[in-house]
Amino acid sequence: MDTMYKYIFGPVLSRRFGLSLGIDLSPEKKSCNFDCLYCELEKARPIDKIENQPDPDDIVKEVHDYLSKNHYPDVITTTANGEPTLYTRLNELIDKLNKIKGSSKTLILSNGSTINNPTVREALKKFDIVKLSLDAADQKTFEKIDRPLKGIKIDDIIKGMISFRKEYKGSLVLEVLVVKHINDKKEVIEKIVEAAKKINPDRIDISTVDRPPAYRVFPVDNQTLYEIAKMFEGLNVNVATRKSGGSVQKVHLDKEDIIKTFKNRAYTESDIETLFDDETKKNILDLLSQNQLKFYTVANLKFIKA
Ligand code: SF4
Repeated sequence: MDTMYKYIFGPVLSRRFGLSLGIDLSPEKKSCNFDCLYCELEKARPIDKIENQPDPDDIVKEVHDYLSKNHYPDVITTTANGEPTLYTRLNELIDKLNKIKGSSKTLILSNGSTINNPTVREALKKFDIVKLSLDAADQKTFEKIDRPLKGIKIDDIIKGMISFRKEYKGSLVLEVLVVKHINDKKEVIEKIVEAAKKINPDRIDISTVDRPPAYRVFPVDNQTLYEIAKMFEGLNVNVATRKSGGSVQKVHLDKEDIIKTFKNRAYTESDIETLFDDETKKNILDLLSQNQLKFYTVANLKFIKA
């Protein structure tokens, strides 16, 4: 990457979205209306605006320059050192990015808090993929894990996500990050599942603390992640496991069971690798070649389903 760039970074290979060229709307300091326990940035008091906002033309110039010299990445990802929807010129930026994106898809990673702001919503609708976070569906857990700016209500956010889904034609991905002893209880997850079913995203990504977090919190192990994933039955769930997250007990299924299981839930190739024993994997390959199982792609991630 050219060092003259101020707003773009990468590309980085993301397991969830493919090769990603990043845009940072707040390169100088963290600007977020949350202060999540698990944040990979430093802890910081939540704020509701980005100071010294960049000019969209300066960002687009960098993206354009990068694209003229390199292959198109799978996604051009709008992030901030914090929350990208606090950027007041998002609408202008996405219009300009869409004109130059070529074969890349535009993606935004948002915490979902501004989903009821009509201007933000108009801008979000223009992205090919929108990722919103939902770490809790009850106010108490939401405040504990995401530490939002005062006055932000999770009920309003969920209602906003439900209505956004109805208007938005692109791929909506919901991300649930599970932190040990904070939002891993069955009752807490059940409420998230209930909300997720009403929101009806194209995909749900479930993950846990990975890189060193802002506060002293801990990941859940891979087995727990898969137990939680099972609770989201009927939705496309992608589990982002940790390399050191403990081994998952391998599951054996015969062909009939595979069809039944894969009817209820789609699995990504990496989930199949982690979850099933060798004979089951061979059965899955056989069923794919017989067209009894099929591949399909949601927001750049490949799933297998019956
Ligand atoms: S929403 Fe994202 S950037 Fe903001 S505090 Fe949480 S993890 Fe960090």
